[in-house]
Amino acid sequence: MCSKVAGHNRQKDFFKKILASGRINHSYIFSGISGIGKKLFACELARSILCSNGSFFEDCDCQNCSQVKANNYADLYIYENKELNVETIRNISESSGMTGFLGKWKIYILDGVEKLSTGANIVAGNAFLKTLEEPGENTLFLLITSKYDMILPTIRSRCALVNFSPLTFDEVRQVMVENNYNISDDIIKLSGGSIERGFLINDLKLFSILEYIKSKDYKSFTTYILGVDDLSVIKSVMEFLYPYALEMYKSSGSYIYMQYGEYILEILNRLNYNINIELAKHDFVSKTIEVFSERV
Ligand SMILES: [Zn+2]
Repeated sequence: MCSKVAGHNRQKDFFKKILASGRINHSYIFSGISGIGKKLFACELARSILCSNGSFFEDCDCQNCSQVKANNYADLYIYENKELNVETIRNISESSGMTGFLGKWKIYILDGVEKLSTGANIVAGNAFLKTLEEPGENTLFLLITSKYDMILPTIRSRCALVNFSPLTFDEVRQVMVENNYNISDDIIKLSGGSIERGFLINDLKLFSILEYIKSKDYKSFTTYILGVDDLSVIKSVMEFLYPYALEMYKSSGSYIYMQYGEYILEILNRLNYNINIELAKHDFVSKTIEVFSERV
């Protein structure tokens, strides 16, 4: 589960000092775009806190570290976004009030914690607030989000905020190399410092879409877009083309690219409200061809 953390040295230094001082807060929010290793960082921080040898973001094979790595350390709880609901929060509230099995820290990692601000989960969010207000001794909450603004203000105010920046080009490449992923430098550049985004660009072959547009191969572009049935893929294509549109605006000064960027944001927004996807795809194709056929 846990492996080497790339980058985020400022945050490592921050926590190193905190652990040395012993003045650790009960709850932190890790905020930053998705796919940059916030959860991995949280896992490694948890392991460092629990380690019997005092290792800090370094490999260690003590019993605690081995158990954390095998995902069976009794007092470390990791919840994914999809598991965050009323029942989970109830379990967390109950267990966090009790003494840990191993008599040391009890650590809770909640990934995608903004989910506790939406719909029926607000009840869970409010219940969780009570837990945060009265944390058990030696209980630590690490809340992870890529949508900090969505988190209930009452929860935000109970937690120390730690911001995470996108990874640098070299850090993304380092992760790709260490994991034997064959991702080109061009894709790394377009990943915006997010490993997740790099994979998405690679897996969906979004890069070839950019090539179609650049080479004015609108037939292939149209075939790709009209052939996609998955709404999330269409959204990814648009999210991918948005920064390219801005880049084109900056380099050419032609306002048409700025308008195209605004068009993408608008259609992305409309796609959240059950518009006819087939119509949206056709509209997107003709708009894209219209913009990029312009001579500037
Ligand atoms: Zn250890």
